[in-house]
Amino acid sequence: MAAILQEAARRRTFAVISHPDAGKSTMTEALALHASAISQAGAVHGKSGRRGVTSDWMEMEKARGISITSAALRFEYRGHMFNLVDTPGHADFSEDTYRVLAAVDCAVMLLDAAKGMEPQTLKLFEVCRHRRIPVITFVNKWDRPGREALELLDEIEERTGLKPTPITWPIGTGGFFHGVADRTADRIVRYTRTPGGATKAIETDLSAEQALAELGGDWERAKDEIDLLSAIGSDHDQKTFEAHESTPVLFGAALSNFGVGRLLDAMVDIAPAPTPRPDVAEDPRPLEEPFSGLVFKVQANMDPSHRDRIAFVRVCSGRFERGMVLVHAATARPFATKYAQSVFGQERATIDEAYPGDVVGLVNASALRPGDTLYDGPPVEFPRIPSFAPEHFSTARVRDSSRSKQFRKGIEQLDAEGVVQVLRSDVRGDQSPVLAAVGPMQFDVVKHRMAAEFNTEILMDRLDFGIARLTDAESAPILARQRGVEVFTRSLDGVLLALFTDEWRMRGVMRDHPDLVLNALLADT
Ligand code: GDP
Repeated sequence: MAAILQEAARRRTFAVISHPDAGKSTMTEALALHASAISQAGAVHGKSGRRGVTSDWMEMEKARGISITSAALRFEYRGHMFNLVDTPGHADFSEDTYRVLAAVDCAVMLLDAAKGMEPQTLKLFEVCRHRRIPVITFVNKWDRPGREALELLDEIEERTGLKPTPITWPIGTGGFFHGVADRTADRIVRYTRTPGGATKAIETDLSAEQALAELGGDWERAKDEIDLLSAIGSDHDQKTFEAHESTPVLFGAALSNFGVGRLLDAMVDIAPAPTPRPDVAEDPRPLEEPFSGLVFKVQANMDPSHRDRIAFVRVCSGRFERGMVLVHAATARPFATKYAQSVFGQERATIDEAYPGDVVGLVNASALRPGDTLYDGPPVEFPRIPSFAPEHFSTARVRDSSRSKQFRKGIEQLDAEGVVQVLRSDVRGDQSPVLAAVGPMQFDVVKHRMAAEFNTEILMDRLDFGIARLTDAESAPILARQRGVEVFTRSLDGVLLALFTDEWRMRGVMRDHPDLVLNALLADT
């Protein structure tokens, strides 16, 4: 039992999140390189045609250079076991991002030094706030001309309400990045690029005298700014960080490995280890209790040569041993774990044991859905992962009606995996479901996977709806009679959703029928 607590305490389970192009892939690669998980930079990055560890299994991903699947990269650093859970990197938001964030204890938010807060940065900060996930902010690309550091801090505070507490402070700007002052470790570190770029940077400690002599005005300026930060109390505070009230900030350049080691050190020192996860009754399941885990992602057909289905499970309590027979809380059926793997892109390794914070890929998991709980010993069920309000809607039909059976099967499968939400109504009939998504890219994924995996071409037409509200059986018929409103049943959980074209239309209906039940889905709250 003590061993479980010890193992949990040395776990760091996190995601790197950012607006596209801020450097997420580069940072993932740099972190893994720094921790020596892989011997040479380039092995993780799948973008330039190198064999990637990144999830580039899907042709569509290859074609677009994006990562659609999420899996976890494990590496050890300073005696700690890191689980870096990959989030989808495309410009759209998808439900996957939310689900992945249900599996982590901390997030590293990358900002592009020149761009600061971008639309997805804000959305992601918002999701972290919702889930109360502590965020460490890393201002990336400091080797390039960018914004003023103090100005970026102001922007973070204004836009997120989080108090930025810099751990490191950059010396030099505008493409002259000399190094950082480490405010908590009281060091001045000079960075020197190593030939070839993507290998480890050389870090040299400087005394204040050396800094002044060698970095001159840049150092003096940094020093003034640091004094200002101390004067206004912008110092790291563990309590407010864990309560999602402050965000520690680091500066660096992932591409040259500047500041990457410092980020790993910060993760070891301040990022939270797994804590007991509350169950549906809000009773936390102690870490040392027998195994429990949360399915946060289900992915079918990752490997074209094996038509399999993998459920990614975050271990919440106890010790996982491959071969265990667990209970699937949703059905009370046994679930055998003979095939347990760690998966990152195309790399798979068998996992024999795992502890709280670890991510295990379970193969042949056709019964498992995102949000499901698996356990051993005393029963437990974790709250379902909130499904966010869809904002994009499309019809789906089979092109060739002789493929109707495959069409139905495929849609059911993608629904179970949570690729999109599937909505049905008597009016439209069984062969014409409406697909609902958080980001329109989810539709492309459906189209591609239906063709590639079910050999079924589908026709889609975007619908002019933009808002979904939860309703009930009494309100549904009234709503269905309104212009610009349609009511559907969501296949996965049977709830009734009313779709409106826009806010204005919805308000009009509410004004005419004040007694209607119309509740916001989670993302709007
Ligand atoms: P992602 O879309 O967030 O995964 O971003 P990538 O890691 O693919 O990076 C986007 C672009 O920014 C690529 O061309 C990277 O080489 C570049 N990049 C990433 N980090 C840095 C950095 O620290 N400095 C500079 N100059 N470029 C960077």
